[in-house]
Amino acid sequence: MFRKLMTFDEAKNAISLHLKPKALGEEAISLLEAYNRVLKEDVASTLDIPPFNRSTVDGYAVKAEDTFGAEENQPAKLNVCGVVNVGEPPKISISKGEAAEIVTGAPIPDGADAVVMVEDTERENDELRVYSAATKDENVMKKGTDIKKGETVLKAGQVLGAPEIGVLAALGITKVKVFIAPVVAVLSTGAEVTEPGKKLPPGKIYDINAYSLSTAVRESGGNPVYLGVVPDDKVELRKALEHALTSADMVITSGGVSVGPRDLTPQIVDSLGKPGLIVCGIAVKPGKPTTIALVGRKPVFALPGHPTSALLMFHLLVRPVIRLLSGRPEREATTVKAKAGARMFSAKGRRTFVMVKLKRDKSNQLVAEPVETGASGAITTLAKADGFVEIPENQQFIDSGEEIAVALLRSAV
Ligand code: AMP
Ligand code: MG
Repeated sequence: MFRKLMTFDEAKNAISLHLKPKALGEEAISLLEAYNRVLKEDVASTLDIPPFNRSTVDGYAVKAEDTFGAEENQPAKLNVCGVVNVGEPPKISISKGEAAEIVTGAPIPDGADAVVMVEDTERENDELRVYSAATKDENVMKKGTDIKKGETVLKAGQVLGAPEIGVLAALGITKVKVFIAPVVAVLSTGAEVTEPGKKLPPGKIYDINAYSLSTAVRESGGNPVYLGVVPDDKVELRKALEHALTSADMVITSGGVSVGPRDLTPQIVDSLGKPGLIVCGIAVKPGKPTTIALVGRKPVFALPGHPTSALLMFHLLVRPVIRLLSGRPEREATTVKAKAGARMFSAKGRRTFVMVKLKRDKSNQLVAEPVETGASGAITTLAKADGFVEIPENQQFIDSGEEIAVALLRSAV
């Protein structure tokens, strides 16, 4: 199969031109399933939170003015008139000169406007001595001070994590409207690739890509479906891809895209339907054989077999598409400035991505050290790398000591 390599920018353009990825639609799901999903609409509170004035300490509900002037050697003396329980409306109210025992989270009884901490009191039967004056509203969380009824608490487009899901729970919400997460079929190819969990026969290796790519799909907001390992066989490969296309919004394969006799993926994906191949090799390093096809509206990303190349190409080309399909914005990579820790060479005429590890030198400056790629198939390359440096097509190398931008692979370093 004849291949004309596209430049990296041409490949990016072809993807946005042909795929025009946008959010898939909406669904209502339960709160406990909402992790990492994207809110479809603003959420306004139907409640005041807290719903009543409540105590923030264990102690005694009082009228603040009854404690004015109280200090260490001159306590205010009050009469304990009862107890306010947590979880129910107060059965008592406070009159002048009275106090009620109260615990954290319990409602402030009528007549009281402050709570004195139990540590500042001494009690003998119903007589309470208060050794520190309280101001009005002291140790009281007023109704609606956290969230006001009608207030917008979360915005459409926000990704739901632990705090956001907590906020929704505070409002008593059990179902939330989110964007549909794209279903992404992931399959590996190659006679040598074996599913983890099975015995490893001589000459075989375990499937790395399906696992690293499925995880990357999840991180990007997609819902990965692992379809296993397919041998390098035209009939099998076609069958697996046709099945993948009926059951998913997008397909990711790895391996079998080079120019060897057993690299069948490009011709098979091209024959699955129109418009077929839109990218057939990219002038990049690593990741050159990366192939992309469109079958109807569904993209097939055929990534290289080398685990590092596959994951890097995913990061650069597939992740932005999944983000858009899942209702996320297409975010620019987070970059940090660093000093090149060594000279880094590019591959002639190809956009080159050098995996680097970030360190700090004696003056606390960030230094980007290239990660030893040794054998280019090493998965450890990516596991060791904090990010990558991009060298443009027309540049031969980055010199040691040059200031460079490092695109981070993980959001937190
Ligand atoms: P290929 O592009 O199929 O020639 O594969 C390139 C290299 O990546 C070969 O050394 C393969 O054994 C290896 N490889 C392909 N697929 C996987 C996979 N799913 N997991 C780990 N290594 C793989
Ligand atoms: Mg192969």
